[in-house]
Amino acid sequence: MFILEEKHLNEAKKIAEANRKKKSCDNCYDRGYVGYTPENLLVLCHKCVDIDKAVEDWKNYVSQFPELKEHFEDLFKENEEETQSEN
Ligand SMILES: [Zn+2]
Repeated sequence: MFILEEKHLNEAKKIAEANRKKKSCDNCYDRGYVGYTPENLLVLCHKCVDIDKAVEDWKNYVSQFPELKEHFEDLFKENEEETQSEN
């Protein structure tokens, strides 16, 4: 099973925190995430994190690493479909 490496997880935490919209949040205690998935991915806090922007940042980060991009290919596919339907 895919498990996100610690170095990538640390980057995900930075992204979560950078995309928080509120200063103080009692849902995630100002971390921007509320827990982890079995794959070691962050569960973002929906109360204070701009999820769309966080996902966008995460995609930018992931695209630097072929092995991550492969795992998160759904994120990229979705975007392509949206672009196509707009045209
Ligand atoms: Zn929060």
